Amino acid sequence: MQTLLVTGGAGFIGSNFVRLALAQPDVRVVNLDLLTYAGNLDSLADLEDEPRHHFVRGDIGDRELVSRLLREHQVDAVVNFAAESHVDRSIDGPGDFVQTNLVGTFNLLESARAYWVERGEPEGFRFLHVSTDEVYGSLGPTGAFTETTPYAPNSPYSASKAGSDHLVRAWFHTYGLPVLTTNCSNNYGPYQFPEKLIPLMILKASRGESLPIYGDGGNVRDWLFVEDHCRAIWRVLEAGTPGEVYNVGGNSERTNLEVVDTLCALLDELLPEAPHRPHAALKTFVKDRPGHDRRYAIDASKLRRELGWTPQETFESGLRRTLEWYLGHPEWCARVTDGSYRGERLGGADN
Ligand code: NAD
Repeated sequence: MQTLLVTGGAGFIGSNFVRLALAQPDVRVVNLDLLTYAGNLDSLADLEDEPRHHFVRGDIGDRELVSRLLREHQVDAVVNFAAESHVDRSIDGPGDFVQTNLVGTFNLLESARAYWVERGEPEGFRFLHVSTDEVYGSLGPTGAFTETTPYAPNSPYSASKAGSDHLVRAWFHTYGLPVLTTNCSNNYGPYQFPEKLIPLMILKASRGESLPIYGDGGNVRDWLFVEDHCRAIWRVLEAGTPGEVYNVGGNSERTNLEVVDTLCALLDELLPEAPHRPHAALKTFVKDRPGHDRRYAIDASKLRRELGWTPQETFESGLRRTLEWYLGHPEWCARVTDGSYRGERLGGADN
């Protein structure tokens, strides 16, 4: 039996990862999440009766709690998803981003290091840090980020993630802690909080509300279906070399406008009776976000070559699955929209 401490496992990618990890029969997950606005126990509701899933409400920066969890559960690996993750929120209030992403990761590293030393520095221990391609800054019309692209973060979010990546790197080079870092492009898929582009557009379009697109809609992102990202993290955890960084991306560059147009066409197809067809008529262009990076693209050839990972979904197949999931889960969407997802299922938490 392998025991993982997954942080941020009630968030979008974390909850998908916990589900993937528990699909392996010999894995236990201790899921540590602070349940900020982005943490949603509804996203873990299907795991409520799973004895190999242990949810704890708490902060990655709480060293006493993290040390207790590591010891009590004899953890074999830490997978760190916990973060403040929304760029717009980081512009309005950067403090929480520095606190969780940078200081929180520092405290988590220190707790993990103390535990690893106490256990005699086992070779098989892993600390996997989940990060973003936004640390590399913005690209011109050509080229792609590789693992050696210099860091050039432009938002408080990406700067705080960049700082955390540097700490993780230093804990390998200075202390020998067996760390791994993944830098991934934009994710989409089930359980994503509807402040991010794709779920926001799905929910607004299905209600007939206008679809706000920043600037000219020409910003390019390299989209990856969340389950493909989770499989990549699993693969890196299994077979990655400590101290190494792996870029993760889907080779699916799309402008925001293309994303919204594809979604609208799919909605027209899946909801032939909807009163708001064609959904593309709901698009409106709004003032651009300050410091909005123009283009991100990821070169994931190292992960493909060294660890044999390839995405299973194309952008079109993943987007269809995502849309079908949101249309098939009206209760999840309603509880996120009206705020009732917060704080109700806390009975299972032990902190
Ligand atoms: P999310 O905002 O959906 O989830 C973050 C989770 O972390 C939430 O459940 C929240 O409650 C929890 N959390 C926040 N602060 C915490 C703290 N101090 N202690 C414990 N838990 C805390 O984010 P996401 O989109 O699932 O992203 C997860 C990770 O993946 C982040 O580190 C993010 O930087 C990275 N990432 C995201 C994307 C993307 O497109 N969403 C792409 C690449 C990398």
